[in-house]
Amino acid sequence: MKIKCAACDYVGEAAVLQKGSRSKEIALWCCLFLPGLLYTLWRLSSDGRYMGCPRCKSAQFRPITRREWKDLKRQGALKV
Ligand SMILES: [Zn+2]
Repeated sequence: MKIKCAACDYVGEAAVLQKGSRSKEIALWCCLFLPGLLYTLWRLSSDGRYMGCPRCKSAQFRPITRREWKDLKRQGALKV
């Protein structure tokens, strides 16, 4: 899916991002076994994933239609 990010003006393919953070996951694993396991499972599940901007990880974006994409390309607005 092609997107335009509202936060940083990125234009291009959206990325599948994971909620939560890797460092938090490791910290949980080190301190408490069970919450760490649950946290990992949550991040791996579809609930823990979202589509977003690969540059700033924001989920505030607008999908770009094929026609808009063509227009942007013609204007040379794309740096990809
Ligand atoms: Zn962005």
